[in-house]
Amino acid sequence: MPDYMFLLESRLLPEQRAAMLRVQELSAAMGFNVYLTGGTVRDLITGATLRDLDFTIEGNPSRLARELEKGGAKILFEDERLRTIEILFAGECEGSLSAARDDYYVRPGTRPEYRWSTIMEDLRRRDFSLNAIAISLNSASRGLLLDPANGLSDIERGEIRALTIHSFTNQPSRLLRAMRFAARMNFKLEARTQEWFELAMERDLQHSITPQDAGDELRAVAREERPIPTLKSWEAHRLMECIHPRLAKRHPDYEAIARLAKVREDLLSAGLRPRLGTAMLNAILGRLQSREQAALLSKAGFRTAEREVALGFVASALRAQKELLSRKCEAPVEAYRFLERLPLEISAWLLAESTKSKALSKIRAYVQKWRPIRMALPGVATELEALGMPRGPRFDGVIEQVFAIQLAGRGKTPEERVKLLRKLAGIKEPPKKKLEEKKKKPAKGVRKAELVAAAKQLEAVKPAERPPAARKAAAPAATAAPKEMRKRAGAKHAKTQKKKTGRRRSR
Ligand code: ATP
Ligand code: MG
Repeated sequence: MPDYMFLLESRLLPEQRAAMLRVQELSAAMGFNVYLTGGTVRDLITGATLRDLDFTIEGNPSRLARELEKGGAKILFEDERLRTIEILFAGECEGSLSAARDDYYVRPGTRPEYRWSTIMEDLRRRDFSLNAIAISLNSASRGLLLDPANGLSDIERGEIRALTIHSFTNQPSRLLRAMRFAARMNFKLEARTQEWFELAMERDLQHSITPQDAGDELRAVAREERPIPTLKSWEAHRLMECIHPRLAKRHPDYEAIARLAKVREDLLSAGLRPRLGTAMLNAILGRLQSREQAALLSKAGFRTAEREVALGFVASALRAQKELLSRKCEAPVEAYRFLERLPLEISAWLLAESTKSKALSKIRAYVQKWRPIRMALPGVATELEALGMPRGPRFDGVIEQVFAIQLAGRGKTPEERVKLLRKLAGIKEPPKKKLEEKKKKPAKGVRKAELVAAAKQLEAVKPAERPPAARKAAAPAATAAPKEMRKRAGAKHAKTQKKKTGRRRSR
């Protein structure tokens, strides 16, 4: 029994892990069996980024979704007919909950009837073997991999394999999907799937893709990390016209897509995970006029709210740029606060498209310098606490002041920072320790004091009573110590001279 739980634990982001545990817990309490399925399991196995969590439940997920909602999750979309719910868990973690079902086709190519089923039947009705794998999240079998179509071996071979001869006939949008997965993962179609694909294209099945299904694929390609290979593959297979004839004619704006993809990489290496679906959609449709874009999205079944966000995206990015360039954002700390609130997708689009160097340098500073400074603030707080300031509102105020000063380029070295913290918190510098200074020159200072004291003692004694050796030393009592020092200085001088000559000789 392979245990995929360990893999999950190590690969999930903390917020994804929390979401999974919550779904697991609630399903157990409600008596449903629950599984991780589809893209999540495929990406887990291939090592790809886990973008979202797809859960399949043997039962209706509606009640489970309501419970999750009470805990702060957001329902993005609910398809009651398919019993599928798109959900946003805490921490911006995307996912879906679906009822396990079987799609029953009276005849190939007709609309399917949905029958609520077990997980095994659900996996067998899926598009490709690599998407038909599940991991159990149930207490008796947690971590068990369910792979009835042997998808694991297809992943190892790097192949996309359709599950039945009717796969493309039943759902022609799988033509787009097959090309998308092949391009994304650099996989090829398995030999028989390739034949079925060609046969479907010969029969012009691509023209029976519903606008809704085409819209789902357009949305999906815009969410791809690297959409260009998929778009090129669609173009090469004459599939772009299924998305929209206008797009097939004008082509996606590949330069804009590449610029945005590069920004994504830069942001990832700075530790940010941008979701660029809307910005990328704008880049894909960049060569169409806004009127054409609106018509396309509407035909592709984009919901009104989604359409408004997509069509208004560039305008809102330009508004944000204007604000960033205004006096309101002049001080770095104000610009930081503004950019912190701004959706990362807008910053990403500006990084890719803006021609305003001042706006660009602020966004770059935010990503590369200001965020790291912000993230280091807990360490600064520990330093302030160590200086003796108790935590509280005034403490937080000092930390914020330090942050603002650091954004302006000061207070970065530990010494500067401690000085700054003392000043802002009103903590006095510790008194200069005289003893410490003395410690620095112990031999000279101590010796001098000893000699002066000894000389004074001797002075008090009559010359005749002095020991013969001391008589000489005490004669000019006041100069005894300097003389001693001169003697030592002389020795030192001789030593350095010797060193110097030694060095000269060696040259
Ligand atoms: P992505 O990484 O693009 O999200 P995904 O495989 O998760 O890929 P989704 O569209 O999110 O794709 O669908 C989730 C799962 O639902 C798929 O993995 C697949 O098992 C199943 N699925 C989706 N669309 C179809 C379809 N047209 N036919 C059969 N199964 C499908
Ligand atoms: Mg998915």
